Amino acid sequence: MEQAGIDGGVFDVVVIGAGMAGLSAAAFLGDAGRRVLVVDSLDRPGGLLAELPLPGFHMSAGVHNLAGAFADGPAGQGTLAAVTEHLELDGFELLPLDTTYEMRYPQATYRIPVGREAWIEMFARQHPAQENALSELVDVCERMARELARLPISPDAASLARLPVEAPLLLAYSTVNTLDVLRHRLDDQRLVRAVSSLCEPYLALPPARAPFAVWAMMTNSYLTGTYQCRGGFQRFADSFAAAVRDRGGTLSLGSTVTEIRTQDGQVSGVAGRDWQVSAPVVVAAMDARQLLRMLAADVLPRSYRHRLESTEVSSPLLSVYLATDLPIDPEATAYEAFHVGTESLTLERGDFLGIHVPTLNDPSQAPPGQHLVELICAVGHDAEDPFAQAAGMITRADASLPGLADHLVPLDPHAPTPYAIRRFSAPYGWACTPRRVGLGGRLRLGHATPIRHLYLAGQWTQPAHGIPQVVASGAEVARLITNDRPHHPLLPLA
Ligand SMILES: Cc1cc2nc3c(=O)[nH]c(=O)nc-3n(C[C@H](O)[C@H](O)[C@H](O)COP(=O)(O)OP(=O)(O)OC[C@H]3O[C@@H](n4cnc5c(N)ncnc54)[C@H](O)[C@@H]3O)c2cc1C
Repeated sequence: MEQAGIDGGVFDVVVIGAGMAGLSAAAFLGDAGRRVLVVDSLDRPGGLLAELPLPGFHMSAGVHNLAGAFADGPAGQGTLAAVTEHLELDGFELLPLDTTYEMRYPQATYRIPVGREAWIEMFARQHPAQENALSELVDVCERMARELARLPISPDAASLARLPVEAPLLLAYSTVNTLDVLRHRLDDQRLVRAVSSLCEPYLALPPARAPFAVWAMMTNSYLTGTYQCRGGFQRFADSFAAAVRDRGGTLSLGSTVTEIRTQDGQVSGVAGRDWQVSAPVVVAAMDARQLLRMLAADVLPRSYRHRLESTEVSSPLLSVYLATDLPIDPEATAYEAFHVGTESLTLERGDFLGIHVPTLNDPSQAPPGQHLVELICAVGHDAEDPFAQAAGMITRADASLPGLADHLVPLDPHAPTPYAIRRFSAPYGWACTPRRVGLGGRLRLGHATPIRHLYLAGQWTQPAHGIPQVVASGAEVARLITNDRPHHPLLPLA
């Protein structure tokens, strides 16, 4: 806990949330000479990247890999490389993965490799007649990614007016769904199913509702490389926290903000249960819906309140974390695999089960001789017993990793179950439907709010969810607040 001494403090900016968006905003604000306080309810930085409290294990709840973010490329890609360099981050090591993920269907298995030619070849091996169509599809992804690289994170009116010339493909595809485009371009339903398979786990949406533009960016970023963090992703978050402190910032961990205070239509500070601080600027880098209870009832305009109350959120996921002393063969098991019980294009909830084994590549994340395994699947908004669901997921995983259920090593000897669970009620913020992301995303919240000097950062705002995206979002908010740096299309920090 690092909350001593903040009560009564005066800061230039308070950031609510030490997730990757809040840490990024704070580090760049500190870099620009602002006196920043970051407050988080958790006792360690990182938000969804923060390590679960499982002694001896290094498992973050909300990250499996960093995709494409260290190559030159479109927004998202290149962002983390530029940020790492700019903030001189160190203390972590990224391990490249040679397989991005694996899809297992009843009739076929696709192990998705890194690299454009390898990707085309892998799918074409099972669907040879589609090789040209696959190649053209990858071209579209790459061209859209190049277009996105030239756009600002939150386009202004002038850059929107230039879209027909500078980003014609992004514009053309901004409101269409993945399924329609893939059906139009590929003749084989099984291939459409396999190629669109990113949508359910990574967007929590079926291909019929997932924006093609987002699918194309994700696919392109996977083609250029994915990484895990040696020793766990907490190290990555810690390096951002160190950058905040090195620039004179304060992290108050284990403190919950209950109120954002305003005076004459602009923010004046924040308060917790038994503390308060003053600041003329506040960045809310947390679930944006909390604004509804943190602000006095009459402060937010009715239309903004309505958006916060009624916008669709992403569908819930349930994760089960377990340790096993079962030997797992890396040839037979991928770092991250999705087991899908049907080749239908419309999956029912529970049709896919993700199995993520971070220790296959990095044994240091568990005690010697053990593997750390995360099982993940879509669940309903209802209050079904999550432990019953978890038991069902372990039984299903046992079919792929025979003996798993009998080889669980208790994560915490005092806990009632040998495994731990976490339910994400809105894992990716708002639902990523075509109307709410990217250029078609006029219904997505911007960084500025109706309250003067109150900003939003992170996965509830632009550009969307994902570590590179929220880091870019934090950097963009810092740029808006300091207003003293020239705009850069990839990263507004140059
Ligand atoms: C299961 C899962 C898997 C994922 N896998 C990947 C992946 O492989 N790769 C990838 O790039 N992205 C992945 N993501 C998405 C990624 O984790 C998120 O988009 C990103 O971490 C969100 O960062 P954030 O800073 O916006 O929010 P968060 O990480 O949610 O941070 C918000 C912070 O605010 C704090 N907070 C909230 N309210 C208060 C309050 N009142 N007072 C004080 N503090 C408060 C919270 O404690 C939290 O620390 C995954 C997400 C999930 C759920």
